Amino acid sequence: MQPVKPKKFLGQHFLHDQRMAERIVQSLQVGTSPEAVLEIGPGMGVLTRYLLQLPAVNLKVIELDRDSVAYLKAHVPELEIIEGDFLELALNKIFTQPYSIIGNFPYNISSQIFFSILNYRNQVKQVVCMLQKEVAERIAAPHGSKTYGILSVLLQTFYRVEFLFKVPPGVFNPPPKVMSAVIRLTRNDRVSLPCDEDFFVQVVKQGFNTRRKTLRNALKNLTLAAHLPDSGLATFLDRRAEQLSPDDFIELTTLLQRGRGNNQTL
Ligand code: SAH
Repeated sequence: MQPVKPKKFLGQHFLHDQRMAERIVQSLQVGTSPEAVLEIGPGMGVLTRYLLQLPAVNLKVIELDRDSVAYLKAHVPELEIIEGDFLELALNKIFTQPYSIIGNFPYNISSQIFFSILNYRNQVKQVVCMLQKEVAERIAAPHGSKTYGILSVLLQTFYRVEFLFKVPPGVFNPPPKVMSAVIRLTRNDRVSLPCDEDFFVQVVKQGFNTRRKTLRNALKNLTLAAHLPDSGLATFLDRRAEQLSPDDFIELTTLLQRGRGNNQTL
């Protein structure tokens, strides 16, 4: 069977370096008990082959491209393939136990993939993925850094993020125009937030919308209480979004929420 011809609109850059494929799969931390793993976008299965060699792995893959699905059916007949769009999957229906996600992500939808994962964070205990280096750096950036942003806060709220290694364009066919990198996310033990989660996301997004402004200005249009006695609110509002850690954002949202309903502006 002919190899799949790479399609740009599906973000297809096929990895042809076997050692790199093995290194990515080895970045997945698996124990000795049966491990459930979902691979996003297997393409022609370069990662898949190494994944199938892991001890006691229960592997499923999700692939949107029909040509890749046909290729995999011919070459890896034992593989359990879900044909479709990852972004439309109900991630709580894939396995009955918490599982890991791995993939050389289609770069054009990597942010959307992370928002889906966040929605199902209690099912997804680990993520090992390759993505555009800049996006990887942003996700892993600590507060105080110029590249720290919305996804950094939201992902770091629920996952420990590790930047593992960079990957040059030459290991792909066709080579992408950008450098790539592999990161690992490991679910932390935060079960829930002390504040409303939608409001938390709103505060984070709005805070970074105008990231040069202080939060007092960036959050102006949220109708909130002006002064909460001893709340410590001012210490957050005088700073900019990029200076707040995920814990700070949680505390800020909790304080703001308490003041809601008073119908005063900041
Ligand atoms: N893992 C392969 C292919 C990586 S390219 C390798 O490393 O060589 C990204 C893959 O994601 C492609 O196979 C592409 O068809 C697939 N893909 C793109 N959008 C997708 C989506 N929404 N859902 C599932 N798979 C998708």
